[in-house]
Amino acid sequence: MSDDLDDIEHSERGPSTAHRWRKCKASVRKCRGLPDTAGIDAAHGTVFHYFAALCLEMGLDPQGFVGDTLFVPKFGDLVFDQAMADNMQYGLAILRAYMDEPGVFLLIEKKLHLDEWVGPGEMGTTDFTLIDVKNLRIISFDWKYGAGVPVSPIENDQAILYVLGAWSDYARRMFWEEMSERHPDGHWKIASWEDDIEVTIIIEQPRAGGGGGVWTTNMGHILSVGDQILEDAEETEDPNAEFNPGPSQCKFCAAAKFNTCEARARFVSDLAGLDFDNLEDDFGVCAEPEIPPATAVSPKQRSQILLHKDMIIKFLDDLHASAYRDAEKGNDVPGMKLVAGRAPARAWKDEQKARIVLTKKFGDDAEVRKLISPSQVEEKIGKKAFKELFGKAIKESAAKPILVPDTHKKEALRNVLDDFDDIETDNMI
Ligand code: SF4
Repeated sequence: MSDDLDDIEHSERGPSTAHRWRKCKASVRKCRGLPDTAGIDAAHGTVFHYFAALCLEMGLDPQGFVGDTLFVPKFGDLVFDQAMADNMQYGLAILRAYMDEPGVFLLIEKKLHLDEWVGPGEMGTTDFTLIDVKNLRIISFDWKYGAGVPVSPIENDQAILYVLGAWSDYARRMFWEEMSERHPDGHWKIASWEDDIEVTIIIEQPRAGGGGGVWTTNMGHILSVGDQILEDAEETEDPNAEFNPGPSQCKFCAAAKFNTCEARARFVSDLAGLDFDNLEDDFGVCAEPEIPPATAVSPKQRSQILLHKDMIIKFLDDLHASAYRDAEKGNDVPGMKLVAGRAPARAWKDEQKARIVLTKKFGDDAEVRKLISPSQVEEKIGKKAFKELFGKAIKESAAKPILVPDTHKKEALRNVLDDFDDIETDNMI
């Protein structure tokens, strides 16, 4: 391992938060000084990344590390478990196939300078970047261990910044020398020679259905995005940089988590039809907030609200968490108080000891056995073996159509009800 856990980005404008600060320039100053919001899921991601890099650098099988631990600040010793080892296999196979190619230059868990693209002193750590000078290509691979939000490689700011860092630190000089050697007349410098360098960005997100993928573009495009990133980064330094609330940028913003962002609060309350300015007066007279009936909104208003449904729910969750924290500290939470909640279900203090006693008393009835699900079997034996062995044993139900933003990559279903009518008519014939 070339780097340690200090590599976890704490920069104000690191690659992992670029999707936020590029959209909301004010978020950089608004998050300044707020505590780190990374939770246990991010800590497990750190463990996953650490052992993935170890396996790659040492050429080892992740199964050999199952049960080992890694100390993650704030969270203590976390275990590298079987699921992590299994989830790593496919990505490792991809990376090893690339590593076996002759003459390629590899950057594994490598810190890269981003001064040129984000500002002085900025850095980022690539999981894996390959520079293949002979074949004029760069491949950048990024693990995502999160299961909640599927991440696409297309125009992915974080991955693009890793390519740009690799370009500044290594690739630009290497490709320049290669081109100079191939075309000594120097004619190539007139054209946009970077367009001839293929860039492939791969995101491997094993736990999120629909997450990850492969995106191929060229270095000319990446450099033009780099120019825009630099402009955005410079704008974040403006003390009057504007707020731009939105679902993706606010989702993991510390200012949202700690409810210090009025712009987001106003945005959400406007969406919900609440008169933010009158909330205190309404509270004083115990008035119910006025929420318009569903029939009073136009189709466009309805879409605007539904497209931001998660943001509204997250805002309410964050408000609740902040009120709860205040109440725990004994601070005044007007109109609310902490009371004893429902106790969690009772549990055995020591399951192993309880199992011995219960088995003696109840025999086989001491435990409830449950079949593992088709998804769990597929995870254990892989898609191909699963299909061969259990394909005929699976009961599949038709997926119910869902409403998604019209930017979603799936093709729109048309006339769903007509299709349904057809089925009913067919059945009647
Ligand atoms: S909560 Fe949203 S609007 Fe406020 S600073 Fe963060 S990203 Fe910007």
